[in-house]
Amino acid sequence: MKRIAVLTSGGDAPGMNAAIRAVVRGGLEQGWEVFGVRQGYAGLMGGDFVSLSARDVGGIIQQGGTVLGSARAPEFKTEEGRKQALANLEARGVEALVVIGGGGSQSGAYALSRMGFPVVGVASTIDNDLYGSETTIGVDTALNIALEAIDRLKVTASSHHRAFLVEVMGRDCGYLALMAGIAGGAEVIVLLEVESDPEEVIETLKAAYRRGKAHAIAVVAEGATNNANELMLYAQENQKRIGFDLRVTILGHVQRGGMPGAFDRLLATRLGVGAVERLAGGEHGVLMGLIRGEILATPLDEAAGRKKPLDLGLLEMARVLAK
Ligand code: ADP
Repeated sequence: MKRIAVLTSGGDAPGMNAAIRAVVRGGLEQGWEVFGVRQGYAGLMGGDFVSLSARDVGGIIQQGGTVLGSARAPEFKTEEGRKQALANLEARGVEALVVIGGGGSQSGAYALSRMGFPVVGVASTIDNDLYGSETTIGVDTALNIALEAIDRLKVTASSHHRAFLVEVMGRDCGYLALMAGIAGGAEVIVLLEVESDPEEVIETLKAAYRRGKAHAIAVVAEGATNNANELMLYAQENQKRIGFDLRVTILGHVQRGGMPGAFDRLLATRLGVGAVERLAGGEHGVLMGLIRGEILATPLDEAAGRKKPLDLGLLEMARVLAK
């Protein structure tokens, strides 16, 4: 193999740059030329390729986001869009592609590989919902950012006897909310995976007040039916006397933009190198992920389009501990 390309797609995640660096330098080590594709599948269809040297990926391992840019490109879901992408890859003599991204991006990778092009995926999403990797690039950093915010909110909440409804990212998956709730010692965790009753949330906060707590935190997943604003409206409309003064904080994109921590840099580096090693061994059509501490490949036809379920037993554990 002489030429490969790498792209980042979908939601950006801290650590994507470390993965790009690993793919580029790992590929160069094999004697290959490595192209970066800008703006994910949009750049693949638009022919936005750039040849990358070892120096081009210097000084990026500690940066959040992705130096290649990312995009959502609905046209890639059409066969015509993917044919255009294949024509661009072939025109440059590119023989394999590494796709760093989440669930949607890996479905795109699978669609391309089914058209006969060698693709290897790298599991990267702050949602941690990808089958084929116990944890994905960016989750650890995003979780630590959410925790720092929760810890700070607790400090100010204690001073005013306040309860905070803290909304964390996760439109389709409650992983961040569940883990941030447990590690942040939240009184309530509201997920999209479990039906929630607004009355119960309010009652739990009220009970915490009566037990003499100086503050209370409800961590709410963005995608929950009762998101933070809905819960606030419910509390106001019903003029609930919670005891605590209730406030809403929506963390939003702040969770994405951090510098990747040690865990994500190491994971991204290992996954990027793993992707190159598999390609060098003639393997493709797989997703690189972390399984029981090892960097392993799962066939894309098993992993793509399949969501990893949340361990809801942890929700009960959190409830028991929120005394
Ligand atoms: P993420 O990878 O973070 O889950 P998205 O779900 O937005 O992000 O997917 C990123 C991109 O992957 C989409 O904009 C689209 O270009 C491509 N994609 C998503 N699903 C498919 C699919 N089923 N077939 C082909 N391409 C897809």
